[in-house]
Amino acid sequence: MFAGHYAAALAAKAAEPRAPLWTYVVGCQLIDIGWGALIMTGAERVSFDASLPGSALVLEHMPYTHSLPASILWSLAAALAVRGALKLPWRAAVFVGLTVFSHWLADLLVHRPDLELWFGGTKVGLGLWNYPVPEQAVEIGLLAVAGAAWAWTRAREGAGAWGAPVFLGLLVGVQILAMVLPAGEDPAGMGGMAIAVYLILAAAAWAVERKGAARPLPAVT
Ligand SMILES: [Zn+2]
Repeated sequence: MFAGHYAAALAAKAAEPRAPLWTYVVGCQLIDIGWGALIMTGAERVSFDASLPGSALVLEHMPYTHSLPASILWSLAAALAVRGALKLPWRAAVFVGLTVFSHWLADLLVHRPDLELWFGGTKVGLGLWNYPVPEQAVEIGLLAVAGAAWAWTRAREGAGAWGAPVFLGLLVGVQILAMVLPAGEDPAGMGGMAIAVYLILAAAAWAVERKGAARPLPAVT
C-alpha cells in the first residue's frame, strides 16, 4: 500500500482544508516513517521473499509502529503535536490524527497477518496483497476519487491549476516504480529509502500548496 495511503491524506484535506497539506501527507505515512527509522536501528524487523505475490515484504516484528495500540498512540501524538506546534483548530488537528490512524486501517486491508492487535498479541491482516491486480485497482481507485475531490476544492478556492495534477502524477509515478523495481534485500537500505520518499513527497506537498496559494481578493472600497 503506497498510493492508497495518500488517498486518505487528500480526502482529509478536501474535508478539512485548515490543516496544511504537508501535515496530512506526512500524517498518512507517519507510522511508516517511524517504521523506516526503527528498521534502520534494528528495533523492528523485515525480510524479503520475492516469491510472495503483491509485496515481497515479510514484516516479522513491528510492535512499536504497526500494532493497533501503537498506531493509536502515534495518531494521538500527531494530533496534539500539530495542535501545539501549528496552533491548528481542534477539528483540523483531529483530522490529522485520523489521517495517521487511516494508515493502520489501509495496512489492515492489504497486509498479510502481521499487524498486532496488542503488543505481542494476535496478528491480523486481510491479505489483499495476495491478489495484486485488485489490490492495485483499490489503491489507484481510492487515489483517483480522493484526488478529484481535493483538486475540486483547490479549484473552488482559486488555487493554481498545476499543483494537483503534478502532485497526483508524482504519486502515481512512485506507485509504478515500486511495482516494477526489484524487491529489496537490505532492510536498513529499504528503511532509509522509504523515509527519503515520504519526506520528498511532504516537501512536494508543501511546495504545491505554497505555489498554489489563493490570491487574496482585491479589497472592495
Ligand atoms: Zn505501514
